Amino acid sequence: MNNLLSVDLEDWYHFIGDPAVPVYEEWVNSESRVEESTDILLEILEGLSITFFVLGFTAEHHPGLIKRITSLGHEVACHGYRHEFVFEMGPEAFRKDIARTKAILEDLTGQPCVGYRAPGFSIRKQDLWALEVIKEEGFTYDSSIFPGIRTAGGISGFYPYPQVLRLEAGPLVEIPVSTTRLLGITTAFCGGGFSRFFPGSYIHKKIKKINSRNQPAVVYIHPRDIDPHQPRMELKYFNRFIYYYGLKKAEEKFRHLVSSFAWEGFCVFASRF
Ligand SMILES: [Zn+2]
Repeated sequence: MNNLLSVDLEDWYHFIGDPAVPVYEEWVNSESRVEESTDILLEILEGLSITFFVLGFTAEHHPGLIKRITSLGHEVACHGYRHEFVFEMGPEAFRKDIARTKAILEDLTGQPCVGYRAPGFSIRKQDLWALEVIKEEGFTYDSSIFPGIRTAGGISGFYPYPQVLRLEAGPLVEIPVSTTRLLGITTAFCGGGFSRFFPGSYIHKKIKKINSRNQPAVVYIHPRDIDPHQPRMELKYFNRFIYYYGLKKAEEKFRHLVSSFAWEGFCVFASRF
């Protein structure tokens, strides 16, 4: 069966929740490494059609990259403009943020942008208003829910597989990121720093377990996750660990993961619901 693969397209300085990260005003003067790493990902993904959740800021500064992604048959979906937590924006700023980014992406790709993922999976139980806004702004699916507790966002007890949410604004397909239970804790295992931390054999086994339930694994990666040469920030200890652990072997590990399973994009999958 097909699993769902996504790239959260942003740069090395788009990390939220640590004082060492460059602030928005410094981004334009920060060295960008997103094109180099994304080109490696595009080479690994050759022949596949998957989903890129793109930051509006990155799209505006790298329009050629977005066009390249589209021309290779991948879906371009929305990751917001400035990579801010949804719960810190509030409803009005959030609506403006996703509408602005959707317009930027549709203008660049010439295709409808129908999917959204919140920065840091930052939709909590008390932020479910955001799903109504997402539906009202014309998106058909969302992939923002982390079905467990995490430092920012997360909804403990949320059904962990794709489903249709019956909202006031209408139906919205929700595609939660894949998690597993480990030592009594719900944790991500096949995305970002988690996919660099857990052994490949463990990740493959867990994906097969999800597939045995006739469900797709929902996987994500950032371009920076395979870039050992990115500038190092003086992050807090845990952040530093999750941000930089296993970078040297990450490209090879991702290559192996991609070649070991069948994949498809989120929009194609959501349209079957
Ligand atoms: Zn992100």
